[in-house]
Amino acid sequence: MSDPLVALVDLDAFFAQIEQLENPQYRGKPVIIGGRPGGRGVVATASYEARTFGVHSAMPTNTAYRLCPDGIFLRGDMAKYSDYSRRIFEALHDVTPVVEKASVDEFYLDLSGMEKLSGSAKEIGTRCKAVIKEATGLTCSIGIGPNRLIAKLASEYRKPDGLTVVSKNQINRFLDALPLKAMRGIGPKTLKRIAKLNVETIGQLRERYTLSELQQAVGERTGSNLYHQSRGSYPERSATHRPRHSVSKETTFSEDISDPQQLKQIMQKLAFMWRVH
Ligand SMILES: [Mg+2]
Repeated sequence: MSDPLVALVDLDAFFAQIEQLENPQYRGKPVIIGGRPGGRGVVATASYEARTFGVHSAMPTNTAYRLCPDGIFLRGDMAKYSDYSRRIFEALHDVTPVVEKASVDEFYLDLSGMEKLSGSAKEIGTRCKAVIKEATGLTCSIGIGPNRLIAKLASEYRKPDGLTVVSKNQINRFLDALPLKAMRGIGPKTLKRIAKLNVETIGQLRERYTLSELQQAVGERTGSNLYHQSRGSYPERSATHRPRHSVSKETTFSEDISDPQQLKQIMQKLAFMWRVH
């Protein structure tokens, strides 16, 4: 069985990017989706231009308006964004048979075993970016790693239009410099609680504390969560991540095929059919 390999594809400022794509007059401008100022809405997505004013998602629209009064405020069109999301899903499905939609703009791909068929992780990631661009005109950031946690953190490492691959033996080095708040499930409240640990990076946390010390300091569950995440693992709950055992599928060729390119295409098609049935 091949080593697990997971990708997270995350569209860059998804709603805002779609509006900028469809409305050229919005390009290069701060676009804020999530209701108009004066209401009680919150920001769903802010374009990268809007983020330079300090605007971010989940912020009350009124606060966003104070920070960025010249911004373009739009209510947004969920039906349209869902349609883009469906097209992205379909495009990714042409690259790999196992795609899981985690949210409207995030997709986990199980790439385990694909490297033999479809090239290196980096090549597969590049191909994902290309098919999304071709199907929708949009850019995304992709993280690839041995599990979902690493894929997610890697997708956040370089944005927008990023592609970061972290292999199994690079995990610790990749985590070392990341701030504690990069970890999953560590919100502002937990961050305050773990301030007493007096560490800033995931690497420091891993080096300085044992599991029981962490659990004593911040509680059993959070302590265990920190301990495992700082070693690159996190409880996972999805079908996309189940280990893939051997897959068997037969086909009969009407004539002998020796062209490697043609064989590769057939293998990919079989892998795809396996997912469908
Ligand atoms: Mg996104």
